[in-house]
Amino acid sequence: MTVARLTRKGARRRRAGHPWIYRSDIAEAPAAEPGDIVELRDPGDRSLGRAAWSARSLISLRAVPLAADEDPDAGWMRLIRAAIARRADRPPCARLINADADGLPGLVVDRFGPGLSIQALTPAAWRRLDPLVAHLGQTFDPQVIALRNDTRIAELEGLPGDKRLLRGAEARVEAPVGPLKWAFDLLEGQKTGGFLDQLDNHLAAARFARGACLDCFTYEGGFALQMAAAGREVEAVDSSAAALERLEGHAARNGLTVTAVEANVFDLLRRYAREGRRFDTVVLDPPPFARARKAVGPATRAYKEINLRALKILRPGGRLITASCSAHITRAAFEEVVLAAAADARVWAQVIERRGAPPDHPTLLTAPETDYLKALFVQVV
Ligand code: SAH
Repeated sequence: MTVARLTRKGARRRRAGHPWIYRSDIAEAPAAEPGDIVELRDPGDRSLGRAAWSARSLISLRAVPLAADEDPDAGWMRLIRAAIARRADRPPCARLINADADGLPGLVVDRFGPGLSIQALTPAAWRRLDPLVAHLGQTFDPQVIALRNDTRIAELEGLPGDKRLLRGAEARVEAPVGPLKWAFDLLEGQKTGGFLDQLDNHLAAARFARGACLDCFTYEGGFALQMAAAGREVEAVDSSAAALERLEGHAARNGLTVTAVEANVFDLLRRYAREGRRFDTVVLDPPPFARARKAVGPATRAYKEINLRALKILRPGGRLITASCSAHITRAAFEEVVLAAAADARVWAQVIERRGAPPDHPTLLTAPETDYLKALFVQVV
């Protein structure tokens, strides 16, 4: 089998369990084609398991949990079947394959009821797309299968940025999300068609919310509409008119009313504080403020600002649901920001629940940055 030899540092990192191997940690590159599965060896020639080769990426090798003698293509399909089997008890809208955490680097498959959406963002995943699509077709008989490689990662890997339907002719599908009927557009929705990572949190938020609710960064109203379905009075804010239009569509489909406000959340929270507008529940689920490590400083200040302002417009006994999806901000760092906001706002804040992504988005214990989604449910006493 083709061998990739790691440096001492690279070998140490792999032994510590991290699945990614950077180009600078390779002593001897494998004589392999992109997407080949190769064997990793340390400087002393000891095996460190197997990995998928990406010639173009700075992350040149990604570990895969295949046995030493296992055929790579058959092994890849074994991991796909196992990942799908582990989700047997998940609702109809859930992630079926979560890349490295499932041992399938670069491969994401999301299920939106009768529609499936795929990202194949490494050469290993890209090369093995056809058997995956055939397997998904047989297992789920979906109306639609979309390919959503329209990401920067595909570009960095030197892969085509395809965004198209591999099966079916209509990208819109309907599926239940908790008590609601939801419509997803697998070609135009964000990422693979929508944010499945927050669905459990939307439902938990609906149980936690009280009184008058303000959903900031609402997108298509994931939190807002579940809170409205639970009988709350909800105002939802986003800067995207297109997202708010889809929110109105979901609201109409479900016979619900939400007040949609097109505004910059930073400005709106400041104005509401000045005007004395008060809410019983505020939700903060912003886009990732820190997309890169160097953005952590400004991002931390932005998180602090919105959390402080949200706490200030809460009525006594109010509730804050606050989230961060920045991979570069750790859970501990995020809690520190919310803590600092609570101290500045001079409120007595209890943490009722610490949440993250749902069980169909497992994180990899040895790659802490895969634990990107943090949510705190806070009660002000
Ligand atoms: N809460 C949503 C997902 C939010 S995605 C859910 O659970 O489904 C982030 C959203 O923030 C996007 O819709 C984007 O349009 C919006 N956004 C980004 N910056 C903003 C700002 N400064 N003010 C208002 N909305 C903003």
